[in-house]
Amino acid sequence: NAKACGRNCYQFFNQEIQLQAERTAQLHLHLKKAISQNELELFYQPIVNPLNGKIVKAEALLRWCHKGQYISPVEFIPIAEHSGVIVEIGEWVKTQAVMMAIELKKLGLHVPISVNVSTLEFWSLELQTRFLQFFDQVVEQLNIDVFPYEMITLEITESLMMKQQKAVCELLSLLRQRGIRISIDDFGTGYSSLSYLVSFPVDQIKIDKSFIHQLETDPRHKALVEAIVSMSRALDLTVIAEGVETQSQLDFVKQQQIQAVQGYFYYKPMSKSDFLKLL
Ligand code: C2E
Ligand code: MG
Ligand code: MG
Ligand code: MG
Repeated sequence: NAKACGRNCYQFFNQEIQLQAERTAQLHLHLKKAISQNELELFYQPIVNPLNGKIVKAEALLRWCHKGQYISPVEFIPIAEHSGVIVEIGEWVKTQAVMMAIELKKLGLHVPISVNVSTLEFWSLELQTRFLQFFDQVVEQLNIDVFPYEMITLEITESLMMKQQKAVCELLSLLRQRGIRISIDDFGTGYSSLSYLVSFPVDQIKIDKSFIHQLETDPRHKALVEAIVSMSRALDLTVIAEGVETQSQLDFVKQQQIQAVQGYFYYKPMSKSDFLKLL
């Protein structure tokens, strides 16, 4: 009867929550050691010019191989943010991406690498200073003469712009002056006011995959994408369509004259060696 089911459901729900909490606590514990134990790996997903199929860019996507299993960044990034270890992880990611960029440059391949940056990496003034210093230190660390700034794009989210911190704005402007590009990830999913796009140093917008996936089921999303594209054009921002999986999504994106496409239609994220082979 309903009463018994209610209790069972409640117990089941309770158990689920407890299991989830235990897993989070475990991951939290192990994540701190993930870097030193070589459990992190950067995958690369090519970004393509839909007119000629050429690879114009790639996004670095973090993978955590723990006890023989890949754990999704969707699960562990929030844990890393919560524990603060995201700062070290972010520096590891940026170092790997810079090394990759240098390697590509040596090979004569102009394929800039896009790196996801957590808003938490700018949490305090101290972290902001550390973020900037990282780029100077890595030059010494890697023993290189020139930092390949033009080969690096930072993907930030709307939540960072929302904080409207003058210091963060200035920091990103400084990096941008050196040649780094700034991209707004998951555009359209946050609470951003469009005026941020003018006041913040931005080069590029990534239309979130949820818009692309709903193009066929709900035609109103076409209107949204159209509006984002025309606004970007007016503001002189480049556009990347994320999550393109089907021919009809690609057709629409091409019709909108979107310059770059990232999605399973072309490539899934792949290991560094697979990516280099592909290039
Ligand atoms: P994101 O930055 O929006 O990255 C795009 C996500 O969409 C990736 O998921 C990618 O594998 C997935 N994707 C690309 N094309 C398609 C498609 O055609 N269909 C579908 N269904 N998915 C597609 P992934 O690798 O699981 O990463 C998830 C999120 O984790 C990222 O979303 C990003 O927010 C975060 N993340 C990943 N690596 C890092 C990192 O190094 N640092 C930080 N702070 N966050 C990261
Ligand atoms: Mg991203
Ligand atoms: Mg995205
Ligand atoms: Mg996303």
